Amino acid sequence: MSTGTTNWIVASGQIWKLYVAGAGFAGSLVCFTIALFALGWGGGEFMGMTACGIFLACATFVWLTAVLRCPHCLAKLVWTMVSTRPHSSWLIDLAALDRCPVCNRGLIRVGRSHP
Ligand SMILES: [Zn+2]
Repeated sequence: MSTGTTNWIVASGQIWKLYVAGAGFAGSLVCFTIALFALGWGGGEFMGMTACGIFLACATFVWLTAVLRCPHCLAKLVWTMVSTRPHSSWLIDLAALDRCPVCNRGLIRVGRSHP
């Protein structure tokens, strides 16, 4: 399936944002897990941990939406894809982009910053 072509997120130097978002979502998952265990031991942490997890997941998503942009026109590409593509495939379409859906410029051959 993958031909080894560099992903635009990697090519434009924005892959770290995905890692940070991954950490954020992992953190929210940890919160949900603790919440689930809290149910089991009857602690009062369930609501707090659930709220924490939801907040963390939302904050991470909003942040990713705000920072993952087209290097040319600074369009918020996550938001563009979420709002224009089917619910089931926006993430795949986002990862597979080779040009910006807003300004139609190539996303792969950018970010070669020569000092
Ligand atoms: Zn653009």
